[in-house]
Amino acid sequence: MSGISPFSLSKQPPVILVADDDKTIRVLLRDAMEQEGYRVVEVTDGKQCLDAYETVKPDIVLLDAVMPVMDGFTCCKQLLQIAKNNLISALANLDTDSALGNTVISKIWERTPILMITSLNDKESVDRAFEAGATDYVTKPIHWPVLRQRLRRLLQQAQIYKQLEAANLALQHLANVDALTGLANRRRFDDYLNTQWINLAQEGSPLSLILCDIDFFKFYNDQYGHPAGDECIQKVGAILSRKAQKHQDLVARYGGEEFAVIMPYTPSSGAVYVAKTIQTGVRNLQIAHRGSAVSQYVTLSMGVATLIPTWESSPSNLIVAADKALYQAKAEGRNRIIFK
Ligand code: GH3
Ligand code: MG
Ligand code: MG
Repeated sequence: MSGISPFSLSKQPPVILVADDDKTIRVLLRDAMEQEGYRVVEVTDGKQCLDAYETVKPDIVLLDAVMPVMDGFTCCKQLLQIAKNNLISALANLDTDSALGNTVISKIWERTPILMITSLNDKESVDRAFEAGATDYVTKPIHWPVLRQRLRRLLQQAQIYKQLEAANLALQHLANVDALTGLANRRRFDDYLNTQWINLAQEGSPLSLILCDIDFFKFYNDQYGHPAGDECIQKVGAILSRKAQKHQDLVARYGGEEFAVIMPYTPSSGAVYVAKTIQTGVRNLQIAHRGSAVSQYVTLSMGVATLIPTWESSPSNLIVAADKALYQAKAEGRNRIIFK
């Protein structure tokens, strides 16, 4: 770890937000830290520190324990609350973001380290600092070599933490997103259906599911080749994404050339309506399909099912119903929507 410079990730120098009511200390801190190559922003109490925090977006906060207006302990607690709230809203988006898009990936919990400055003889303050959630502390009068090393170590740790968090989110993305279409994959489909089943069982609201399958797709591949087949799957997937627009809808690639749309709070009429707009959207793509027995263009067969979830039934009831409807759509001649 000691080999990693605090400057290694970003080209900008790390920003240190210093909150101390003692002007002499602030000047000394600024000089010492600017010599280390850091950028320094000064405030004189905890309240100002909170105000500056969101705009400055510091890499580290250096917080005097005793200050007027708002002391360091209170300020420290409130800074952590801001980070917690940001995390909660990022997680809420993760659960409802049907596209599982980059917005979520970029929302990393900024756990900015907080270094508290306490008086040398004040043991109680050290306990209070950690209770308030401080990452570490240094004592006054400031021992410069100690402060230097602590700052370096905290910045390195924060950077490693950010890298891990980014890697973790990237892995989550890979685990949940289909590489060919960018839609949710089967795993994400299963998770989301289970989550919504539980939500809607509590509320007694309807949950709809559309299953679609491209007609005569084996012949499409035979005629135009696999790469063209892949492109066709991408285009159809994009239409589904565009047509299932409600915030909580989830479009997934369910299998090879099969797609699924999970539609919470949607009665059968709404689900059938969306299925029709998908059918029209795919027809308007006018993807030539010489191997199809039902149209000169690529078409879909669709099965639609709606249930009000209960504790006695399970999501598989909904899947079975939609699958039966899809099977019937195929059996009755394809390029059609059947509701069960
Ligand atoms: P129908 O659904 O109308 O009954 O006929 P179909 O020919 O579409 O039926 P089936 O489900 O048996 O065949 C699906 C074909 O989709 C088989 C496979 O070659 C093709 N397929 C599945 N996944 C992919 C993929 O990722 N890319 C390409 N190019 N083809 C795929
Ligand atoms: Mg199929
Ligand atoms: Mg098919």
